[in-house]
Order: sequence, then C-alpha cells, then structure tokens
Amino acid sequence: MSAGVLSIKVDVDTDRGTRIGVPALLAVFQQLGISATFLFSLGPDNTGRAIRRVFRPGFFTKAARTNVVAMYGIRTLLNGVLLPGPHIGRRNEAVMRSTRAHGHEVGIHCYDHIRWQDGLATMEATEVAEELGKARHEFFRIFGEPAATAGAAGWQANAHSLEAYDSAGLRYASDARGTHPFLPRVGQKVFNTLQIPTTLPTLDELLGRRGYSELQILDLYLGKLRTGGLHVLTVHAEIEGMSKLPLFREFLARALALPVRIQRLCDIAEERLRTPQDIPVCDLTQGEVDGRSGTLAVQRCA
Ligand SMILES: [Zn+2]
Repeated sequence: MSAGVLSIKVDVDTDRGTRIGVPALLAVFQQLGISATFLFSLGPDNTGRAIRRVFRPGFFTKAARTNVVAMYGIRTLLNGVLLPGPHIGRRNEAVMRSTRAHGHEVGIHCYDHIRWQDGLATMEATEVAEELGKARHEFFRIFGEPAATAGAAGWQANAHSLEAYDSAGLRYASDARGTHPFLPRVGQKVFNTLQIPTTLPTLDELLGRRGYSELQILDLYLGKLRTGGLHVLTVHAEIEGMSKLPLFREFLARALALPVRIQRLCDIAEERLRTPQDIPVCDLTQGEVDGRSGTLAVQRCA
C-alpha cells in the first residue's frame, strides 16, 4: 500500500483567531516541521451575527456539544452585533504575511464570513463575484500577488461561486466535502477550477458526539491515515489553534510517526494538474454532514 498523504487546511474565521490562533499554529507547525494551507477571512469580522443561527433547527445540539461561547469568546460573538466588526485584513496583515514567510500556503477563506456562509444561497451571481472580488483585492493588497486559491466559508459553494472562481482564474479551490480531487459539475455545467475537497470530519463535528472521547477522535483520524490515500483535514484557528491546540499537537505528533507525508493543498493541486485528463468530473451538490447544521457543498460521483 502506498504511503498516505495528509493535507491540513486551516480556516481562519475571526479577528481573534487570526491574532491568537494563527501564531500558535505557526509555532507548532514550525516545531514539527509541517507546512499547511491557511485560508484567511479578509474583511469585517461580523461573527456575532452568527447568533442568528441559534434560531435555526439543529443548532442547539451542536452548540451544546462544542460550547460556542467558550470556543469563540464573548467578544467575538458580539462583533457585528453590538460592536462594529473589526476589519481582519487591515488589523492582521503582519500575521498573514508571516504565515507565508513560514513557508505555508496562503489563500482566501472569504471577505465577510457571515455574509458568505449565511447569504451565498440567495445571492445573485454579480453579488457573489463582488464578494469574492473584495477578498481578492484585500489579499492582493496584503500579499502583493493574486490569490491562487479559495476555500469557502462554511463549505458554501454553488454555480455562482464556481463561476466566480473560474473568472478569477484560481489555480484550484477547496469548498466541498468529499473523497478525492475533482472538477465540479452543477446541473449540466462543468467548471474549470479543480476542487480538492475536505475528506475527514472536523474536530468540532466529532467533539462531544457519543462514543468519541478526544483520544477516540485521535484514533479515528490516525486509523484513516493508516489506510493510505489522500486525506484533507480542515481545522479552525479558533479551535485547533486555541482551546484544542494540545489535542491537535498530539494528533500531529502521532501522524508524523506514521508512513504519511504532510503536504500543502497547492502541492497536491500541482501534482493533479500535471495530468488534467485524469481528473474526474463529479457533481457538486448541497448535502448534510453529521455534526454540522444546515447544508453544505458535497461531492457526488456517479
Ligand atoms: Zn470558516
């Protein structure tokens, strides 16, 4: 069996996560000699508007399991509600540049996380293109080069967002939950931008679920890595970079003891794009994932 590959995608959702969680992850990755992919929220932190989600069906089970306030902090939950949302890009450009200087890949998570996560499904094509455009503009201002990748907030993607990616000429994207890299099809239309989906369940989807202690979660992850193949794990700067950093560090240390290579998503993308004719086309549809409320972009193969 060939050695497995693990790719770590760090979604950075909030101002606090960028300021505190990202440097903490950089330190751990440096100690362990790991390179990862960091996707930044580049505009206003309106996380507090997520409070609206409390009123959605399915929210309370997740809230009870993960204790949202403890993980995000009360200040973050008020951003954009009682306090004006701080502009994450303008306040944290030094941290973002230092992430790239550490050898990690950097890309776009979103401009406004709440607007994309809660609003994409009802946005017009022009609004979606505009929202991505704002993120690309801020990315260029900070890094002095165009973003080559994006991974959508809340795994929210549809024909409008895939169209916007194609127009922006992204090298690849990581929006969906699935099993292997693919070209996304919505209805009859096949889009050009390679998708590398998140393949593993996230820590916050597993925490507190019956039968999943922290050690059992590690065993589940390590067991999957032992099967070989490509595994993409999405972590959050606000969770694995903060309260769950010791657990995440333990996971990484144990993963490094396996015959597993850890690669950035861009390295996987370049490898696949060398033989574009071999990339399968799969449907990108809206589906549910255990432990997460609402629907998100899911890969479906014939
Ligand atoms: Zn996010």
